[in-house]
Order: sequence, then C-alpha cells, then structure tokens
Amino acid sequence: MTEWVIPLSDLWFDAEETAAAVAVLERRWLSSGPELAALEDEFAAACGVAHAIAVANGTAALHLALLAVGVSAGTEVVQPALNFVAAANMTQRLGAIPHFVDVASLDDPTLDPDGVVRAINDDTSAIVVMHYGGLAGRMEELLDVAARTGVPIVEDACHAVGGRYRRSTRPVGALGDVGCYSFFSNKNLACGEGGMVTTDREDIAEKVRSLRSHGMTSLSWDRFRGHASSYDVTEHGFNYRLDDLRAAIARVQLAKLAAGNDRRRALAAEYEVGLRRIGWQLVNAGAEESSWHLAVAVAPDRARRDQARDRLLSARIQTSLHYPCVADFEVFGSPLAGDLRTTRTFVDRAITLPMFPALTASEVRSVVATIESGGTGLV
Ligand SMILES: *Cc1c(COP(=O)(O)O)cnc(C)c1O
Repeated sequence: MTEWVIPLSDLWFDAEETAAAVAVLERRWLSSGPELAALEDEFAAACGVAHAIAVANGTAALHLALLAVGVSAGTEVVQPALNFVAAANMTQRLGAIPHFVDVASLDDPTLDPDGVVRAINDDTSAIVVMHYGGLAGRMEELLDVAARTGVPIVEDACHAVGGRYRRSTRPVGALGDVGCYSFFSNKNLACGEGGMVTTDREDIAEKVRSLRSHGMTSLSWDRFRGHASSYDVTEHGFNYRLDDLRAAIARVQLAKLAAGNDRRRALAAEYEVGLRRIGWQLVNAGAEESSWHLAVAVAPDRARRDQARDRLLSARIQTSLHYPCVADFEVFGSPLAGDLRTTRTFVDRAITLPMFPALTASEVRSVVATIESGGTGLV
C-alpha cells in the first residue's frame, strides 16, 4: 500500500467506537437488533423526519428508494451526469432508463433545474438530486418542478449527512420524497458499509422496511423477543439489512457528526483562502450549511489541474476526481442525455483534495503550496 504523507480521507475514530463494537460482541446479538433500532430513532430525530430505515449500504438505499417511489421498467429517471455511478446503476437494474442532465455551474456542480425541466416527459418516474460534496442541490427550484409535474424527488445525500439546506433548519435528505445516505468508510459518518433511507411518507417507509428484509412481515429480532412467532412474505424482497455491530459504530459516529463537520468547515475556509491566492476556486466556497464531505478545487484550466495532480502525487498527497462523467461509462452505451457541457468542463478542471476532521490547517497550507510550487512545503 502506498504510504501517503496526507491521505484523501481518514476515519475519525477513537476508543468510543471500539467500546461500542465490543459491547455488541459481548451482548452476542450481531444481526439487526437493539443497536439498529436505536440508530434509526436517533437518525430520524437528527434529520427531523418521521422514518429512518437503516440498510446495508448507500447503493441499497438508492435501490429501495427508487423502487418505493414507483420507478419501474421502461420509465426514465432524471439524474445528474456528475455523480457516483450507484444511482444510474440502480436505475438501470430496475429496467428504467437514466436521463442524464448537466450540472448548474462550476461552482454549484449539482443538478441544473432548467435541464431537469427540459428532460421531464410523460415517461419520467423520478428525479435524483445529488448534494455534491455536501452542499444541497437547488431544492427550491427542483421542488417547484416536482410539485408542478408530480414527479417524486429522491435525494442522493451520501455526501451530505449533517448538511442543511441554505439557511433553513431542514437537513438535506429531508427535503424531497426520500433521502439516501451512505456510511461507507470515507463518508462523514462511517461504519464500514452501511446506509439509511429517510422519509416522512408512510407508504415509502413501509415499502422500504419490507423490501430490506425479504418482504417478510417480521424480523428475527422480533421473533427472538417474542413479538412475533411467525411471518408471511408479501413481496419479493432483498436482504439489505444493517447489522448491530455496524449500527453501534454508526451511533457513536452520529453523536460526533456535528463536531466533525465543524472541523471540516474550518478546513474548507483555510483551503478557500489559499486557493483564491493562487487563482483557483474552491467549490461551494463559504457554504456554512455544507457537510463539507469533499474539498474540490477547480483549476484555471485542465493543464494546471493535471500538473497539480502530478505534483501532489510526487509529494505523496492523495487526490481524487469526483467524478468521471457517468454518461460516458461504457456500460451506458449511447445514453439518454441533455447537453453536458458544464459537467465535462468540471471533470477536466476539478481535483479532490484531502479533507477529514483530523487534517490540520498547516497540512491544508502544504497542499496549496504543493499545487503552487511543486515543492512539498511540508514542515
Ligand atoms: C458513496 C456514495 C454512494 C454509494 O454508497 P455505498 O454505501 O458505497 O453503496 C452513492 N452515491 C454517492 C454520491 C456516494 O458518494
């Protein structure tokens, strides 16, 4: 494994996560049980939603959310071309067709509402909005489109746990019909593999709860506690459950989330100052309400972005690209897509820089100095 001087991301774990995991091992109930129930209650309270349903990962959350809002074979799901591939893959797995739309601007690389209006037609069954890097998409305009057309909104909030929408107290993921989160290792709230579906809609919650566990009417935990002795199967479901070991770790992480996101915000401010000085731009600069999952910088041009990637690699500072244009992946063939000009410019000029709660301000200055000069700037 490469030894990075500064990795792209790092877990923010301490003795509490270890103690929580050990307590589950000692309780000897590993699968979905009391920790899971507590996590769901705490997550629902934190998001101000009626229902939080834990699942195995963020992709499972998207799969179930798309199913629950009624995405079916042959319909179209409007979604950003700048996203992780999960939403598009799940769309395709349902037999539906991803309809890729451009992002709004280099500084707001979330779904362009005008592009959404152009893409919507009688076959549209859902809109997926992705809160890029932790900053909410243009929900006001998108909710307006949804209200006018009756098309449901699925929020891919995998970057945005703990983020809010503008000045509103409403967290992202709680704005559309259903919100999807991931607790993968590099996310703001991490437990290895894990995810959550949030909704205020009773019908969606019921569907997701059923589909996550085989379409069965009771869980092993219910039967163990004597709350049920048998079950029926009412639909062809999946096993998308989250286990108690991971749920216990996620509960500790949820309690620390606001503090971690505050640290990320302070580091983003440090990046902003440094990047502006060298003529680069930090995406979502100054966004108080962002969860700051990612620090993404936009270079003045592609050559300088590529040069920075090389310089940072030589200094053993890890970078990434969020993301390649989804519509260009081979698997989507000739995709249904609008004009993706802004997405393509963004993909050419963006670079993801290290961002995690334990990163220091002086490390941020080193990253910027390395982009500028090629020297490591490390002290
Ligand atoms: C991480 C992520 C996913 C998938 O989540 P998994 O837990 O890895 O399945 C989906 N969408 C976005 C935007 C993500 O960042």
